[in-house]
Amino acid sequence: MPAQSLVERDAKVIWHPDTQMLTEPAPIPVVRGEGALLIDEQGQTYIDANASWWVNTIGHGHPLVAEKIAAQARQLEHCIFACLTHEPAVQLAERLLQVLPGTCSRIFYSDDGSTSVEVALKMAIQYWHNQGIPRTKILALEGGYHGDTFGSMSVGAKSVFTAPFEPYLFEVTYLPLPEAEKPFPLDEASLQQYAAFIFEPLIQGAGGMRMYDAAALDAWLQTCRKHDVLLIADEVMTGFYRTGKMFACDYLQCKPDIICLSKGLTGGTLPLGVTACTEKIYEAFLSRDKRKTFFHGHSYTANPIACVAALTSLDILQTTSTQHQIRRIMTRHQEFLQKLQAYSCFRNARCLGTIAAFEVLSESNYTSPLRDELYLFYLERGVLMRPLGNTLYIMPPYCITDAQLQRVYEATYALGDKLLQKA
Ligand SMILES: *Cc1c(COP(=O)(O)O)cnc(C)c1O
Repeated sequence: MPAQSLVERDAKVIWHPDTQMLTEPAPIPVVRGEGALLIDEQGQTYIDANASWWVNTIGHGHPLVAEKIAAQARQLEHCIFACLTHEPAVQLAERLLQVLPGTCSRIFYSDDGSTSVEVALKMAIQYWHNQGIPRTKILALEGGYHGDTFGSMSVGAKSVFTAPFEPYLFEVTYLPLPEAEKPFPLDEASLQQYAAFIFEPLIQGAGGMRMYDAAALDAWLQTCRKHDVLLIADEVMTGFYRTGKMFACDYLQCKPDIICLSKGLTGGTLPLGVTACTEKIYEAFLSRDKRKTFFHGHSYTANPIACVAALTSLDILQTTSTQHQIRRIMTRHQEFLQKLQAYSCFRNARCLGTIAAFEVLSESNYTSPLRDELYLFYLERGVLMRPLGNTLYIMPPYCITDAQLQRVYEATYALGDKLLQKA
């Protein structure tokens, strides 16, 4: 393999002949972040082309966020969020409810994307339980990803990551990705057994940046709604303008009953999860009967510093200059995809908002050497890229400069040249 490697210099690649795998070089000690750049101990810079696992929207080291969270830390760093409340949590809830698609009227705070999904699932299941209605099954899409906790693993695709836990995961009915003209794949009468349908709207992230038809999804959601199946939109990755609109569900007619948010919620600065729901769901928990309570709470629920980070991030996102940056990335991505047409080694080039993705032609999966080679190829060119198997994608912080974006594109053209030359 190394003889044929894409990686030029000795990039400290470790080739394991027994497992047929390359491992990444030792972790890069990062000391600073600035806009779309991460900077290591040696002063070497890396363009954060995948937004630090999709969390970063406003750029690293944003001075306004730093200032606001420092002030909040001095004022009130944290307090229990049961029988107590505080302004940052209230303000953030009000602010989110103004912009969330549909008729969500309540906000439940948790810690991250996985917990926001756990909360959504538990909420949906208990909604029916509290009413004494036997709806217990869950619908999900094939190839989805919803997190690494047990509930979220249960509703996600099964893979090498979930294999050891499979006996412990609950059963879910998977639907294929909605496609235009494709009829709803289940007998509609059977929908009465289902508590909820969870989906990543418009694009499946960890599943390989798989984009699918909004109208087709809409039609299936209408069918589910007709039979009172609760609709859970996992917007953990898609939220906060990733898809061009503020939320992916803004592209849909049929709005969800429950929405999960995290990742971009704080702009990429602090962990925070939100599960929003409609009044109908909230009311199913209102009772003098304690058994109907939603018994779910994390120690750091509604952490005020994280809430302030989210509020500040929303301020930044809604400025005309950020909105302009988002449009600019979308336009530049389109031009980039045009150029990729010239490379027969790249397939299925696609774009949704600020996300551009394509496959490198090869027989490969997440653990194959190709994935690691691709990672190193970009790393050598100062670009931090985390391929999903043979899927490459560019999902930058919105503040990425034109020159930085160009460097990511150029690295991709160089990869194309190299691959074609190899073939
Ligand atoms: C990342 C992700 C999650 C899990 O979020 P964590 O904060 O990593 O727990 C859930 N759903 C989707 C769609 C995601 O992309």
